[in-house]
Amino acid sequence: MSRSRTVLVAGAGIGGLASAIALANGGFRVLVFERNYKPDTSGAGIQLSPNATRALKNLGVLELNPRAVEPSELVVANAISRALLAKMPLGSTMREKFGAPYLVCLRADLHDALAKTANDHPDIEMRYGSMITDFASHSRGVTAQIEYDRRAEEIQGAALIGADGIRSQIRARLHPGSGPRHGGMSAWRATIPAASLPEELRGRNEVFVWLGPGAHLVHYPVGDGSEVNLVAVTMDRQQTESWGEEAATADVVSRFAQWNETPRKVLRAARQFRRWSLYEAPLVSSWGKGAVTLLGDAAHGMFPFLAQGAASALEDAVALGEKTKDAEDMPAALRAYERIRLPRTREMQSAARNIGRIYHLPMPFSFGRDLVMERIGGQGLLLQNEWIYRG
Ligand SMILES: Cc1cc2nc3c(=O)[nH]c(=O)nc-3n(C[C@H](O)[C@H](O)[C@H](O)COP(=O)(O)OP(=O)(O)OC[C@H]3O[C@@H](n4cnc5c(N)ncnc54)[C@H](O)[C@@H]3O)c2cc1C
Repeated sequence: MSRSRTVLVAGAGIGGLASAIALANGGFRVLVFERNYKPDTSGAGIQLSPNATRALKNLGVLELNPRAVEPSELVVANAISRALLAKMPLGSTMREKFGAPYLVCLRADLHDALAKTANDHPDIEMRYGSMITDFASHSRGVTAQIEYDRRAEEIQGAALIGADGIRSQIRARLHPGSGPRHGGMSAWRATIPAASLPEELRGRNEVFVWLGPGAHLVHYPVGDGSEVNLVAVTMDRQQTESWGEEAATADVVSRFAQWNETPRKVLRAARQFRRWSLYEAPLVSSWGKGAVTLLGDAAHGMFPFLAQGAASALEDAVALGEKTKDAEDMPAALRAYERIRLPRTREMQSAARNIGRIYHLPMPFSFGRDLVMERIGGQGLLLQNEWIYRG
């Protein structure tokens, strides 16, 4: 196939794999370059709201559902008083209202489902252990420098998609000085056996969100429901070099000293945690230039409080596939993709930042937050999130 129908993708994360599938479904040959030698499936669990599961269906990724759990509700509670603040219905309400389910699963299962679809596609070639180190956009498309096994190669394509994550090198080349901004927070992630939950939480098929001053904890069942994924977020100035650095349970639990015994028991059930420093990508007025664009965290890395980072990468992929299908002018098609994705993802970044502030309000402001949450209840939360789930 000619280079005019070949697209290069940097990164085989959720965004890179999804965009490769979308582009290949649109008739392109796709080369995916991933610097790691094998897929990175770290990161415990992931919530997939209806906009994400709709995008997966659109991409033809259907193997996820058997390994995902469909929770019945999202329960928000105060982590100190243990007071229940709101219960947002998930399950059939989501399917009926938004035409797609709200699922939770292991990130590895989502990654596997995408990787399997990509591997089975005759027009997608995966190149693990290969890194895109530089590129030049020109009138005939793009030329990328690839490094693998201490060798270098130049590869031509009609376009380059920078799906290389929050520390994207493609973004750094396109927009010097726009590197990720540390949010002064860390996420502590772990997976625990469901049987080790405190008795009052055992056997409940719900997403739980516990809110405390400067911290919150989210947990939900994953796998076949026999495991529970924990994500605890605290204020934390320390930035970790690598993602997923190990952290001792006692260190993490000590950060929640004022909390009620129930959520503390959940935290204590972990054998160890992994720590993620939280970053967001600063806004840029346009993601790409010429035959190059950005996608996923490279474009709009956001704080995880709305659980929309991977969801928006999946939405990006679908939009990229639609705008480039049958395109004669690739740069114009990429700008059209950016024009439809930039406003929505900007709103998501901002909403995620705001919800983080609300979650972490100190006393006495948290009393006001709790009152509002109790008053609007789960239906009110659903209404606030409709713009996200409708896609
Ligand atoms: C604590 C936490 C909880 C979260 N929970 C949710 C959730 O519930 N729901 C949700 O939707 N999202 C969630 N997210 C967000 C989600 O995980 C990310 O938004 C998503 O994984 C981003 O995918 P990506 O493909 O853009 O980037 P990445 O997953 O970072 O993938 C980038 C890939 O590019 C590769 N790479 C980098 N540079 C190069 C290069 N030069 N050449 C080749 N390859 C390269 C990397 O090795 C990597 O494999 C959460 C995030 C965190 C931190």
